[in-house]
Amino acid sequence: HRDPSIGTHEASSGEGMVYWQVALPGPLQMLFTYGVPADVSARAGMRVWVPLGKGQRMGVLWSPAEKETEWVIKPVLSVLDDEPLLDEELLACLGWAADYYHFPLGETVLAALAPSLRQGRSLHELAWRILPSGEQALADGTLRGARQRALLERIAQTPQGVSESQLRDFPKAVRLRLADLGLIEPFEQMMPSTWPVLAEMSGNKLPAPDLNEAQSAAVSAVAACLENFGVWLLEGVTGSGKTEVYLNLISRVLAQGRQVLILVPEIALTPQLVTRFTDRLGLVPAVLHSGLNDGDRLNAWLAARSGDATVVIGTRSAVFQPFADLGLIVVDEEHDGSFKQSEGFGYHARDVAIWRARRLGVPIMLGSATPSLESLRNVSLSRYHLLTLPERAGGAAMPDIRLLDVRQQRMRGGLSDDLVAAIETHLLAGGQVMLYLNRRGYASNLLCHACGWVAECAHCDSFMTWHRGVNRLRCHHCGFERQPPSVCPNCSATLSPRGLGTEQLEDVLTGLFPGFGIERLDRDALSRVGELDRRLARIQSSEARLIVGTQILVKGHDFPHVSLVAVVDADQALFANDFRGAERFAQQLIQVAGRAGRASRAGTVLVQTHQPEHVGLNRLIHAGYASFAQTLLAERAEAGLPPVRAAAMIRADARDADAPRELLTHMADWLHEHLADPADSPLDVWGPVPAPLARRAGRYRYQLLILADDRPRLHAALSQLESWQGTRRTKGIRWSIDVDPVDM
Ligand code: ADP
Ligand code: ZN
Ligand code: ZN
Repeated sequence: HRDPSIGTHEASSGEGMVYWQVALPGPLQMLFTYGVPADVSARAGMRVWVPLGKGQRMGVLWSPAEKETEWVIKPVLSVLDDEPLLDEELLACLGWAADYYHFPLGETVLAALAPSLRQGRSLHELAWRILPSGEQALADGTLRGARQRALLERIAQTPQGVSESQLRDFPKAVRLRLADLGLIEPFEQMMPSTWPVLAEMSGNKLPAPDLNEAQSAAVSAVAACLENFGVWLLEGVTGSGKTEVYLNLISRVLAQGRQVLILVPEIALTPQLVTRFTDRLGLVPAVLHSGLNDGDRLNAWLAARSGDATVVIGTRSAVFQPFADLGLIVVDEEHDGSFKQSEGFGYHARDVAIWRARRLGVPIMLGSATPSLESLRNVSLSRYHLLTLPERAGGAAMPDIRLLDVRQQRMRGGLSDDLVAAIETHLLAGGQVMLYLNRRGYASNLLCHACGWVAECAHCDSFMTWHRGVNRLRCHHCGFERQPPSVCPNCSATLSPRGLGTEQLEDVLTGLFPGFGIERLDRDALSRVGELDRRLARIQSSEARLIVGTQILVKGHDFPHVSLVAVVDADQALFANDFRGAERFAQQLIQVAGRAGRASRAGTVLVQTHQPEHVGLNRLIHAGYASFAQTLLAERAEAGLPPVRAAAMIRADARDADAPRELLTHMADWLHEHLADPADSPLDVWGPVPAPLARRAGRYRYQLLILADDRPRLHAALSQLESWQGTRRTKGIRWSIDVDPVDM
């Protein structure tokens, strides 16, 4: 039997060492070499404690190394694991991600470990098992104390032993007493998986509907290629039955005995979604997201790694989950911005998932009503296969989307009289009304309410942003700024800033429609556990007839009684100062429109705008998202923007107002001098310009955009810049590289 201390192999210094490169958390890209005693089993993907400076750090064995004689190589302090936690495929993925996102490898590797494993938690745990004298005592009934007897009986039930954590109902003293009596003994075991194994479950499943023609075609196409890598873009409006397609394919992969990973946006991971998968598949999916406590997270992590959990549903961080035998990846709402981590390790979970699927040779399905321009472009380049679900599965009609011209209209709290009348009609007819505010960002445009004039940049095709504090108009593309005009240059009317909040809107509605019940769905609703569910329940029961909300509204919730959806302010998004504004707005408009009339009612969608002739907006409404997206792609090609060109953003901030701008200016100059050889494929450097949120928490923020025709060239430039990390020039300045930036 094994001694409880044996799990950590104490390393000895001197000869008989094998050298290893170890990935250590920290700002540096490099690996560190340490020695591991030759008699200790060491493999890539195991955790080790190593000495570093005066302290110690936890790292992961990366690859065997040559002994470098000029250095004194220290031995590791201990090896934590008996077997690699991360397998070869995942280690390769992490190595690729560190390179691609220009992020330190040691930090990247941590992303694949459950939080408690990052902190060095051992996977060994103390367990107790019964001894023959214990069996005897039970048989003879000689044990007097009731609690001692209960504990002994509990331990006797599992001859291979019971982990200490499962015996928390019994006081420690009772265990020690039984051990003193020689009835039980402690030992150390690998943490057992407590995941309900497929075979043990009742397997009760809700029946699947018969797939319609488009769904069947999609399923057959992928089912014929389950053994091969392929990216399948499933484009279908909300309610067209995408989830049914996933479920059908998932069942097939499970029948082969393989696992499935389903990635969903942050906000879409609700108990309702998990219940749907549980009911239909007849099993308990492992759920992985950052809101879990460390214990639950570790449990799910272990179950997915061991293969006990066959279905894993998670938000973006789950893309780095180890699996025993992954056979399919699904990315639902693939266009969603929350798949991209915006701070620190700036990976895009969809893109990492595609990398893993390719490496594993398995299919990956990307689902969306409004695919990202990136994915649509990959379809047009024949890198992805397109599958479409053109109609709503249940037979419900698509909503009718109309523009409401609000120029010169009387507005009450952002609502025109026409909209107020429409709300009233729908409420009186017994419907629910949903008001959507695409409020985002911290700055606003300056707009003429009389004629629709908006301040535009003199140097770019973009709208200027009004900075309230300093009363300046700024272009966030080129940095041009000027004094705002005092009246509209077009019609001399007074100009007003845009911007209206959900709370303000809620107040206005309460005044206009007392007694109808209002529910608000915004970030606030996510602040407390269960709060979103409570609010959704009040909507489902029609206790609330008016629903006011932001982005959360568009995330896949079902609101079957909503008959009218109002987009309160389309202009704010159309004039957003980042080039993805129009794409994001179109996605949100289509998604929010999909909330209306899901059951038997046909829905109406009204969009308030000062730009009723806006070409893009009209194309979106009359020709649909796909056509609108093609126009946007053509515009991006014209402007040399992603996804047609590769982009990276360098962001810098500091307490000093000038320092980050100066650093980025240096970088821009350096790039121009060394890399922007016009004979080569061009590399464009835009900026530096102030970040959309120019000052945050007392720090001034600037950004520099780098665009390149081909990725290798972009990455070469970024690798050069990496070496600026840690130079004196960067003192007091934090700066980072964001590859494929989403927020610009
Ligand atoms: P999506 O994921 O595209 O929003 P869902 O798969 O959730 O669509 O389907 C929307 C609704 O239609 C669900 O209630 C689902 O059960 C139902 N549904 C989907 N496919 C079918 C089908 N082939 N026959 C009947 N009902 C279906
Ligand atoms: Zn005007
Ligand atoms: Zn400009």
